[in-house]
Amino acid sequence: MLFNCFFAYLDRIFFLNINIWNFSFQSFFKEYAEIFLIKVVLTHPLRTIRGFRKYRRFIRGHKYEKYVLIPDEYSFLSRIKRQRVKPLVGLGFCLKPDNSEKSSSCPSGRANHDCLYLKRGKTEQVCSSCAIHKIAAKCLDIGCKVYIMTSAQDIARDFLIPQLKSKKFPSVILLLCPYSIQAIILPLIICDVDMLLLAYESGYCRDYQQWRAADKGKKEERTEISKESWERLLDLLEKSTGVKSEFQSFRREGNIFYPK
Ligand code: SF4
Repeated sequence: MLFNCFFAYLDRIFFLNINIWNFSFQSFFKEYAEIFLIKVVLTHPLRTIRGFRKYRRFIRGHKYEKYVLIPDEYSFLSRIKRQRVKPLVGLGFCLKPDNSEKSSSCPSGRANHDCLYLKRGKTEQVCSSCAIHKIAAKCLDIGCKVYIMTSAQDIARDFLIPQLKSKKFPSVILLLCPYSIQAIILPLIICDVDMLLLAYESGYCRDYQQWRAADKGKKEERTEISKESWERLLDLLEKSTGVKSEFQSFRREGNIFYPK
């Protein structure tokens, strides 16, 4: 408790221009931190140091309650056009509808990477109220990959480490809770991923305990994004892709759905 207060204080004063002191302290010996330490930090020490410097420059005096765009919009879009790799769109499983009545819950279950629409192009009535359906339909329209995010461990395995190895995911648009946004900026920068991070407006985790429970699949509230975030998301998706694509459905590779 004393240590928690101490590290939370370091976060509040942005000590050394870092504000993930408390998150890092609480992450000691957790499986996601071990994977990141072994596969990223120890395997790529120079890249880690460069990423850490860049992170500190960004964090200095930066407020990022609702959204983060790194680098600026022009550079974000230029890299997509130059490399011809459209962004990966990551959506939290907590966006899925969940209700005591089965007919108004996600038919694919909740804390997993699955979605009936992404998998088979089918929907049930409940899908019409699901943000994942709306965003995935847009992604299909313009040819972006979709990933339903569950745990930090899976995020590291599914796209951070593949990006380090083969530059498969140079840019991402992620919908996250404000607490996760703080924690994911540094890993994304180290792995050389350009990012638009949008914070949920309601239903999100507010501290490490809630975040950790959700990381293990225990999350009752359903998250939502604001109208402003919707507009920002759609705007950047449109600008990222330019012309319309001719994709009909998704194919799954690992936990990621690719338009085909
Ligand atoms: S669109 Fe996918 S995630 Fe949403 S309710 Fe339907 S099956 Fe579940």
